[in-house]
Amino acid sequence: MIAIYPGSFDPITFGHLDIITRASRLFEKVIVVVSANPNKTPLFAAEKRIQQISESVEHLDNIEIDCFNGLTITYAKMKQAQVLLRGLRVLSDFEKELQMAHTNKTLADDLETVFLATSTEYGFLSSSLVKEIAKFGGPVDHLVPQHVARDIYRCYAKT
Ligand code: ADP
Repeated sequence: MIAIYPGSFDPITFGHLDIITRASRLFEKVIVVVSANPNKTPLFAAEKRIQQISESVEHLDNIEIDCFNGLTITYAKMKQAQVLLRGLRVLSDFEKELQMAHTNKTLADDLETVFLATSTEYGFLSSSLVKEIAKFGGPVDHLVPQHVARDIYRCYAKT
């Protein structure tokens, strides 16, 4: 089975990586899809986010990375993916994700949304939190891969 894992990944964190790693054991192939979120202004361009993810998943051999701006169901159909993968952290994730899963079901009945619960140590972790800490000079090395931390600091050093 092919799973797609769409998200902003701005930037990828150890929480995302944990979901990708666990999904790589469950599915034949996992396609990480970098997509634009109309409600968020990204820190990194899509190309940079793709590069950050590629470097982070080098050790896994069934992961593909792509970018797509459009309906997730359109992308899934194009790639013949049967599963739309999302991660769940807190109750507020659940409300929004359930609504999205139900909506997608009305648009594509053959695409199943599968949720993986965050590992306990990453339940608090989000890309926004990482950016907020880094912006004020705090340490983020325990939250994102080293090359990503370097990119974030470089970015904020310019502003
Ligand atoms: P989006 O803007 O589409 O929510 P994100 O990059 O914030 O994109 O998240 C992509 C997916 O990864 C979402 O399903 C989100 O709930 C999940 N996710 C984000 N952080 C974590 C984490 N720490 N643990 C588990 N899942 C996570």
